Amino acid sequence: HAKRLGGDHIEIFKPTMRTARTDHLLVEGELRRALERDEIQLVYQPVVRLEDRTIAGFEALLRWNHSRYGRRPPAEFISIAEETGLIVDFGQFALERAARQLSLWQRRLPVDPPLFMTVNVSAKQFVRQDLVQDVKSVISRALVAHNSLKLEITESVVMENPEHAERILEKLRDLGVGLALDDFGTGHSSLAYLQRFPFDTLKIDKSFVRPQARGQRSALLRSIIQMGKDLELDIVAEGAETDSDAVELFHLGCPYAQGYAFGEPMNVEQAERLLGIATETSAVSSASKIVFG
Ligand code: C2E
Ligand code: MG
Ligand code: MG
Ligand code: MG
Repeated sequence: HAKRLGGDHIEIFKPTMRTARTDHLLVEGELRRALERDEIQLVYQPVVRLEDRTIAGFEALLRWNHSRYGRRPPAEFISIAEETGLIVDFGQFALERAARQLSLWQRRLPVDPPLFMTVNVSAKQFVRQDLVQDVKSVISRALVAHNSLKLEITESVVMENPEHAERILEKLRDLGVGLALDDFGTGHSSLAYLQRFPFDTLKIDKSFVRPQARGQRSALLRSIIQMGKDLELDIVAEGAETDSDAVELFHLGCPYAQGYAFGEPMNVEQAERLLGIATETSAVSSASKIVFG
C-alpha cells in the first residue's frame, strides 16, 4: 500500500467529523495550491497480459502528495476537485504527464504491440467543449504510437448524456486515442446498448472480481467476458488481488488484468524497474517481457 505518512492526522480529510465543513474548506484551499506546489502527482499501475503475464500497459492514477499528510488517494480529494472545478486542471495535468511518460517509455522499450497508457477522464472534463482540442494538442506534442494513449470514461459519464457522449467519443476516436469504458457493471446500462459507442476496451469493475459473496462470481464474469468478446472489445479486469484471481480470470477467457496481484500503483522509478529500463542499472535489460509469478 501507498506509504501513509503522518497517519495520525488522516482524520482531517474525513467529512464525517463535527468540523467537517471547516475541514472541507481547509482541504479545498490547500487543493487549490496543490498543483503549483507540485503536490499533484501520477502513479502508474501495470496492466498485465494474462496469457504470458507480461506488462501490456499502465493506468495513470492521481495522488496528492500533501506536505504534512503524505500521499493521499483520490477518494480523499477527487470529489472536492470535481465540485470546485479543479478536476479540469488536474485532468489536463494527468493527460500531459501520462502522455509524456508513455512517449519516453515507448522509446526506451520498443515492444510490439507498443506499451499503452490509460488516463481517467472526469465528468466535468468530458462535458467541456475543449476536451477534444486538449487531447489533440497533447497527442501532437507527445509522439505516442497510434491508439496507445487511452482515455478511461465511466459508464455513468456516458449515460448522463448519451448523445453528447457519442459525438465526443467519435471525435476522440478519430484523433487516434483508445477509449476504455471504465468501471463497467456499476451503472445500469447494458453492454449491448454501449456497443453504439466507439470503445475499444472494456474494464470490468473490481466489484465483480472481488464480490461480497463469491458464489456467483464465475458465472457473472464469464458472461461479461463473453459479451465483451462478441463486441470485439479488449477486456481488462480490475481488482485482481491474488494469484488465484488472475488464474481464474485467465481460465474464464479474460485477456488482461490489473490489481495488487501484479502491482499497486507505483512511481516512475518503480515502474521502470519493473519494465527493466531503470537507469541505475547501467546495462538496460534486454528483457522486453516482464513475467510475473
Ligand atoms: P479507477 O479508475 O477505477 O482506478 C482503479 C482503482 O482501483 C485505483 O484506485 C487502484 O489503486 C485500485 N486498485 C487497483 N488494484 C486493486 C486491487 O487489486 N484491489 C483493490 N481493492 N483496488 C485496486 P485509486 O488510485 O485510489 O483511484 C480511485 C479512483 O479515482 C479511480 O478509479 C478513478 O475513478 C479516480 N481517479 C484516479 N486518478 C484520476 C484522474 O487522473 N482523473 C480522474 N478524473 N479520476 C481519477
Ligand atoms: Mg480508471
Ligand atoms: Mg476503473
Ligand atoms: Mg473502479
